[in-house]
Amino acid sequence: MIDIPVLIVGGGPSGLMLANELGARQTPCLLVDAKPSTAFNPQANATQARTMEHYRRHGFAHEIRARGLPSDHPTDIAYFTRLCTYELARLSLPTAAQAVSNIRNMSGSWSAAELPHRISQKYVEPVMRRHAEKWPGVDIRFGWTLTRFQDQGTHVEAWIQPTGGSQPEVMVRARHLVGADGPRSGVRHQLGIGYEGATGMKRGYMGGQMFAVYFRSPEVYARIPHGRAWMYVAVNAERRALLASVDGVSEFAFHAAIHEGERAEEWTAADARRIVHQVMGCEIDMEVLSVQTWTAGHALVAQSLARGRVFLIGDAAHLFTPTGGLGYNTGVEDAVNLGWKLAALHHGQAPEALLGTYASERKPIAQRNTGYSRQFADSVGLLPATELLEQDSPAGEAERARASEHLNAHVRLEFNIPGVTFGGRYDGSPVIVSDGTTPPADHPNVYQPTATPGGRPPHAWLADGQSLFDRLGLGWSLLVLSPPEGPHGSGDYEVTALQAAAASRGVALQVVRLSEPGLLALYEAPLTLIRPDHIVAWRGQHANDATAVIDQVLGWQL
Ligand SMILES: Cc1cc2nc3c(=O)[nH]c(=O)nc-3n(C[C@H](O)[C@H](O)[C@H](O)COP(=O)(O)OP(=O)(O)OC[C@H]3O[C@@H](n4cnc5c(N)ncnc54)[C@H](O)[C@@H]3O)c2cc1C
Repeated sequence: MIDIPVLIVGGGPSGLMLANELGARQTPCLLVDAKPSTAFNPQANATQARTMEHYRRHGFAHEIRARGLPSDHPTDIAYFTRLCTYELARLSLPTAAQAVSNIRNMSGSWSAAELPHRISQKYVEPVMRRHAEKWPGVDIRFGWTLTRFQDQGTHVEAWIQPTGGSQPEVMVRARHLVGADGPRSGVRHQLGIGYEGATGMKRGYMGGQMFAVYFRSPEVYARIPHGRAWMYVAVNAERRALLASVDGVSEFAFHAAIHEGERAEEWTAADARRIVHQVMGCEIDMEVLSVQTWTAGHALVAQSLARGRVFLIGDAAHLFTPTGGLGYNTGVEDAVNLGWKLAALHHGQAPEALLGTYASERKPIAQRNTGYSRQFADSVGLLPATELLEQDSPAGEAERARASEHLNAHVRLEFNIPGVTFGGRYDGSPVIVSDGTTPPADHPNVYQPTATPGGRPPHAWLADGQSLFDRLGLGWSLLVLSPPEGPHGSGDYEVTALQAAAASRGVALQVVRLSEPGLLALYEAPLTLIRPDHIVAWRGQHANDATAVIDQVLGWQL
């Protein structure tokens, strides 16, 4: 029998991120995944900026950015009738190398430590796995399947077995079980929790069955007579599809809409070539690496993200249509939210009740983000793609101009989303101490930095070139801000009181004193308490009752 504080079922990005969050906080966990190793297929191909900031918090954002596309590969998103014919619209975005330097000079909505990175999930997962495995208490077992479990009230009993079922089961006794087991989550099913929301939405693109092809062809770039992009989207009456570069050289992920009456589940590599050629509008030599079908058109969230000692994260908790690239990113943030809470409980810093805030904080975010993905899918997928679009005539030209106008607006709606990535908030959470201020309105394309408790702390680059977030690290931080010309060490009484209150709960509160110009105005208060998941929990001029503040944010008042 294995006795472990946390059993994680599923080694996709959500489960692997949770293993990192727990390992970094000396909270032992066992992760099992039925597959022999991390994902082979490219799957998600966009890592959002907030996710990159979380990877940076763990010290591996630079490793992620070094993978995927070569550092000088454009990350443009471009729209065509067919990839080898008319270009309709384009959003030019920086290369990975430019992203690292550009972000230092960006402000407003893009005031951040990291920009997004265009990288296939298949490259992200091995980095996450390697970093999780370096922690002594983390045991990662690919090739192991969870067969069943029982919540016993005081603990969970679960049975795992080497995948295939020919070897005996092993019993795991865990304090908590986390289902990070993807869209078909057996954990969610065993709990009897269904998805709610919208499903089965029909659109010309990103609504209905899709055919995914992962292929290798060194010819693609040479054959497309347009500027290089990271994602190529085809809009024509015959077949709508996208092609995303996986390695920037010869590997591509391709997703095409399947039409009524087509039996794509029976399609072979030869069919894959036929469909790719149709969408490209020209022939290429290609080696098919894998084909599969999947369904777009979901905007689903589990009825409940937790029951008893069992939690759901990632696709097990919500199912997206990939527009906006939010499924995997929302899963990573679930893990970030749950990770520090499980660790706080393990170390006796917080009561069991703190874990209840996982579902109450994350379910509204899952609803918000699935809603945004649905809005993006409607914007692109309901655009009528007529035969006129490809006609070499004045009427065809006019049709292309109309489509260009729409797609040029759409691409900025879907792919310039600082508001979605930085603007998720936990207002109203019982472990957030409201100061009565109202945060800016939620908008997918605009993020207005604010230290109003409940959201991401505003970012700033410091005089020594470091990111403010690098000073915060993995634990609780108290940001103490003073004006550049003012006395240093302001707020000493409160700092000592808050540190003492935190220490009485076993929390080492890190004090970060800064006097950079503009910081105090940005945070609008000299004291800001920041959670381990980089969320403002409290801010103020004074902490008159430091114990009450600390006890509320750790869940002792629940
Ligand atoms: C074609 C495609 C394109 C996509 N594009 C994007 C995109 O651009 N951006 C984006 O954000 N998202 C995208 N997604 C979605 C993204 O891939 C998922 O949101 C992401 O993989 C979810 O991660 P996860 O860790 O929650 O689940 P998964 O990655 O599904 O991992 C779940 C794991 O659980 C394991 N498992 C299941 N049952 C058991 C069991 N009983 N015992 C042990 N292990 C088990 C599975 O083997 C699997 O490895 C795309 C998905 C697809 C299919």
